[in-house]
Amino acid sequence: MKLINHWIDGRPVEDKPERAGDVYDPATGETQAQVAYATPGTVDRAVAAAKRALPEWADVPLAHKARIMFAFRELVEKNKQELGRIITSEHGKVVGDAAGEVARGQEVVEFACGIPHLLKGEFSENVSSRVDSYSIRQPVGVVAGITPFNFPVMVPMWMFPIAIACGNTFILKPSEKDPSPSNFIGELWAEAGLPAGVFNVVHGDKVAVDGLLEHPDVSAISSVGSTPVARYIYETAARNGKRVQALGGAKNHMVVLPDADLDLAADSIVGAAYGSAGQRCMAISAVVAVGAAGDELIDRVRERVDSLEVGPGSDPASEMGPLVTGRHRDKVASYIETGLSEGADLVIDNREMKVDGHENGFFLGPCLFDEVTTEMSVYKDEIFGPVLVMLRASTYDEAIQIVNSNRYGNGTAIFTNDGGAARKFQREVEVGMVGINVPIPVPMAFYSFGGWKDSLFGDTHVHGGEGVKFYTRQKTVTSRWPDPEQRGVNLGFPQN
Ligand code: NAD
Repeated sequence: MKLINHWIDGRPVEDKPERAGDVYDPATGETQAQVAYATPGTVDRAVAAAKRALPEWADVPLAHKARIMFAFRELVEKNKQELGRIITSEHGKVVGDAAGEVARGQEVVEFACGIPHLLKGEFSENVSSRVDSYSIRQPVGVVAGITPFNFPVMVPMWMFPIAIACGNTFILKPSEKDPSPSNFIGELWAEAGLPAGVFNVVHGDKVAVDGLLEHPDVSAISSVGSTPVARYIYETAARNGKRVQALGGAKNHMVVLPDADLDLAADSIVGAAYGSAGQRCMAISAVVAVGAAGDELIDRVRERVDSLEVGPGSDPASEMGPLVTGRHRDKVASYIETGLSEGADLVIDNREMKVDGHENGFFLGPCLFDEVTTEMSVYKDEIFGPVLVMLRASTYDEAIQIVNSNRYGNGTAIFTNDGGAARKFQREVEVGMVGINVPIPVPMAFYSFGGWKDSLFGDTHVHGGEGVKFYTRQKTVTSRWPDPEQRGVNLGFPQN
C-alpha cells in the first residue's frame, strides 16, 4: 500500500511512521493509500527545520523572494492538471471543479509575487525638529496552517504564499482525508528554488494539531475547518501566546426576491448548492424565498437537478462527484431522515440514486427540503453535503432577519433586480462576504476572505492586505541624527 509521509526540510521523511490512517478513493470506496500521522516528535522535527531556515530566509532580499514566488507560480501553472487530478483522486470532486480550486489558489500566489510592493512601510519626515518616523513590517517567525479536506490546494494557498513571501517559514498540517496535494506542492517549492525548511508538511490528526498549538517555537496559527475545531484552535493557540486566525463552518443563505431573474437564481442555486457535492464553505445551503418566489424556484430547481450528471470526479461528463468518505456520506444521509422526522417536505429526493459501476462509492444524490423552519436541525446545523433547505419569508425584512439570526456569517447572496433592495442587503446583513446576483462571492486574492460570528475567530481575514498584516509584525522607528545645535539634558516627556 502506498504511504504518504511528511515533508520536512525540503524532502519526504523516510522513517516508517508510528501511526497512520487510510486515504480513500471516494468514487470507488476503496482504500488507496495510507497517510502518516505525526507524533509530537514529528512536529518537533518540522518546527526545528522551520526554525533553522528562518534567519536566512527572512534575510533574503525582497526581489529575490519575489523571483522564487514567480518561479513557483509558473510551476503551479505548468502542473495544474496534475494537481487537479490528485485532488479528484482523494477528494472526489469533479476535474473541472478541481481545476477551479487550483486557479483560485494560484491567484494568491500571484498576489504574493507583488511582495516588494506589499511590504512598503510608511515614512513621515520631520515629525519633530529634524526627527523622522517610519514603520517597517517584519516576519512573525515560524507559522503554521491547519486546513480542511474540502479545498486541499486552495485553502493552504490562502496562507503559505503570503506567509512565505513575508519572510516566515511555514508548516502545513493538511486534512488527513486528502493529504497528497501538499507533498506535491512541497516538490514544486523545492523546484522553484525555495530553501529547504521554509515549507514543511506534517500530516495527521489532533495530535499533530496540538503539537503545533502548544509548540513554543510556533508564533502564529492560521486554521480553517468546522466551527468547534476553529473555536478550540483559537482558544488553545491564544492561551499559548500565539497570533491566531481560525475560520469556521457556515450556513450560507441565498435570499431570492420575487422580482429576481428566477432562471438565473435557479441556475445559481443548483451550482452553488450541489457543486462539489455541497462540500464548500461558501456553498449555498439555505434558500430564503420571499413571497411568490418559492413555488417558482422549486419547479426550476427540480428541472435542473433532474438533468445533473452524478458520477466519478475523474469522468469529464460528471457534474457532481461523491462525498469525501463513507462516514461523511452516512452523516449527511442521516440529516435527510432527521429533516423528515422534523416535518420538512423533501421535494427533491435522490437518496436512492446509484452510480453504475461505482456502487461502493460515497455517492448521495442532490436533495431539497421545502417548508423548513429556523427551529429544525436541518436548518441550524451545517450539513456539508448535497442537501439544500428552503425557507419561506413573507417579507424582505423577515428574510434579512432570518439571515442575521443565524449563528454563522460566512457568505450570503441576494438575487433581485432592484438596486435599492440590494443596497439595503449589503448594508444590513451581518455576514462577511456578500454576493449580489452572485451565489458564491469568494473575494479575489487582493481582497480578504473571511466570515463573521461563528464563521471566524480572530481579528483578521485571510489573504489580501489582511494576510500581509497577519504574517508580519509592525515596527515603528523614530530617528534623529546628531545635531550640534540640539544638545542639553531634558527630563520632560518629548513633545513638539
Ligand atoms: P475539520 O474541522 O474536521 O478539520 C479541519 C482540520 O482540523 C483538519 O486538518 C483536521 O485534521 C483538524 N482537526 C479535526 N478535528 C480536530 C480536533 N478535534 N482537534 C484539532 N484538530 C482537529 O473540518 P473538515 O471536515 O476537514 O472540513 C470541513 C469544514 O471546514 C466545514 O465545517 C467547512 O465549513 C469548513 N470550512 C470553512 C472554510 C471557511 O473559509 N470558513 C473554508 C473551508 C472549509
